[in-house]
Amino acid sequence: MKGVVFYRPGDIRFEEVPTPSPGPGEILVRIGSALTCGTDLKTYRRGHPVIMKQTPALFGHEWAGTVAVIGEGVEAFQIGDRVVGANSAPCHRCFPCLLGRVNLCEDLEFLNGAYAEYIRVPARIVRENLLPLPPHLSFAQAALVEPLACAIHGIERSGATLGQTLCIFGAGPMGLLLSLLGKLKGCRVILIGKGKLRLKKGEELGADVVLDAAKGSEVLAETRRLTPGDRGADVTIEATGRPEVWEQAVEVTRKAGTVILFGGCEPGTTFRVDTRRMHYEELTLLGVFHHTPRYIREALHLLSEGKIDGTLLLTHRMRLVSLPEAFELLSRGEAIKIALEP
Ligand SMILES: [Zn+2]
Ligand SMILES: [Zn+2]
Repeated sequence: MKGVVFYRPGDIRFEEVPTPSPGPGEILVRIGSALTCGTDLKTYRRGHPVIMKQTPALFGHEWAGTVAVIGEGVEAFQIGDRVVGANSAPCHRCFPCLLGRVNLCEDLEFLNGAYAEYIRVPARIVRENLLPLPPHLSFAQAALVEPLACAIHGIERSGATLGQTLCIFGAGPMGLLLSLLGKLKGCRVILIGKGKLRLKKGEELGADVVLDAAKGSEVLAETRRLTPGDRGADVTIEATGRPEVWEQAVEVTRKAGTVILFGGCEPGTTFRVDTRRMHYEELTLLGVFHHTPRYIREALHLLSEGKIDGTLLLTHRMRLVSLPEAFELLSRGEAIKIALEP
């Protein structure tokens, strides 16, 4: 089969690789569509210690397709079924899993290799996180299940509710999905981001106010002014993964408000919080990471019902061979999500 192989940062090659064959409990899926993701762009630019433990390797983790070959003992699927899979599945045995925090599983089984003609889905993901698609849902939209599940996780943990002011930092794919979910929750959404296309998308997707972060610290005062009594946002979600923005997220949040620290930062970084505010204003700061099988199912449900219309996020459709070009478009801020087809 053809696939995109990651050799080292900046060096990816579209080449012939062996087509995997599924073992017991596994399934081989013919990729219908694979989506670009910020994580993959990061990997392309500077490598990734967790995703890319050894190279060369296939990569890409947001995908949907058709069941092509079924391994021994798989009964839940048939050849020809249209499916979407998550990029991981928890073990349900380790300490965090037994606590009920399965997204923190110490033995999360990850799956990469969506930028290829076929992907072999390991048995645990087949059991836990491979779902059939309704006929009307396109592969490209279905592939949004994984990032959408992360966004649902962020919104659910935030407790954001009807009529509240929800401030979101970051207007990339995640910030935009969070904004859509915030509207669905009945919140008033203030979206703060950078880049012409992203800000325009924020407006198209229905954020109540879209602010340009390029204006600097002025934006923080403006955000507070937009909240009732200038008190600050009820809930703030940080989706840029930059420590200085984590601090800004705390700054625009009201007394007794909640801040969701959603964007993963570079290893070794720290951020500062005003102890007076933290204590006397009883702020809640919550880190939220990844997704769970429950959120994967909720994401597919919202997409299937049309409650979340992902088509506005899918700005480009390209052939797999053009992946380097797709990354260039993303780097220049000229695309949000690109659907790649083999
Ligand atoms: Zn992703
Ligand atoms: Zn576990």
